[in-house]
Amino acid sequence: MLGQILGHIVTHLVIPFSIYGVLWRARFKTRVDWLFMGLISLCYTVYIYLSGRWDWLGYPLRNVLLLFFAISLIRSIFQNRAIPFFVPRLPAWNFVYFIQTFVILLFGSLAFFAFQGTQPPPDRVSLAFPLKHGTFYVAQGGNSAILNYHHLSESPRFALDITRLQDWGRRASGIFPGDPTHYYIYGDTVFSPCDGVVFVVQDSLPDLFTNQVDTAHIAGNYVGIRFEQYNVFLAHLQPYSIQVKVGDTVRVGQPLGRVGNSGATSEPVLHIHVEQGSQADILSRPGVPIAFNGRFLVRNDRVVIP
Ligand SMILES: [Zn+2]
Repeated sequence: MLGQILGHIVTHLVIPFSIYGVLWRARFKTRVDWLFMGLISLCYTVYIYLSGRWDWLGYPLRNVLLLFFAISLIRSIFQNRAIPFFVPRLPAWNFVYFIQTFVILLFGSLAFFAFQGTQPPPDRVSLAFPLKHGTFYVAQGGNSAILNYHHLSESPRFALDITRLQDWGRRASGIFPGDPTHYYIYGDTVFSPCDGVVFVVQDSLPDLFTNQVDTAHIAGNYVGIRFEQYNVFLAHLQPYSIQVKVGDTVRVGQPLGRVGNSGATSEPVLHIHVEQGSQADILSRPGVPIAFNGRFLVRNDRVVIP
């Protein structure tokens, strides 16, 4: 867990702000040198802006990042406006250019895949957002694995994991606390996102600490609702919090249970996904993209519901 926290701080703060520091101060010898540094900072900024988890340290930092990028880039343009385009260098410089090209290609591709993940796929099923009374954050969601780790699997391909933002735009009191009750989403009421009939309920699995995962029961406590030709799943709920039973007809907005930390999840989130197929097809048919009140939600989107 400490490694995860350190890795997070390095990728979200240390690397980008060090790059902006170089842009801010450096007097480049040539425009080519400046261009390499400018491209590195652009690619890294787009990559971490789109794919970073900004609910860990505080959502406003995401905009601080953009602001510092813009300011250091503008200052750098002014500071280096009277330099030659290119001058011959010692052959050792080729190695520097090689490394810089590699970094640009690496983070350029990551930025491209992150952007691709924000693009809505066709044929989305329309649902109501399943939480109320707060600002919610999409921790996993989108159309590529870099924004949504579920995307690697067939059925939960378009699943979302949702947290709640509070207290400086953070999802918990702490960066990665072990106690699930320290996450603001924990205990939130989950509301039915659709009209339908409940066809499966699991209610008796325990809530875990965040360093434990129940790999034998991936979804933990969950509800499955039959809606038109789809199966809708809401997972990782609190034990014995589910207020509906198999066969119940539910209406959109009806309370179903509370967000917990059961099953295989790294922290309390509401997991929701939709599959095609019959009720017997759980986790064996392709996942369906979702539009919540018309929006295809991806990582770093926020939803404010009064
Ligand atoms: Zn999930």
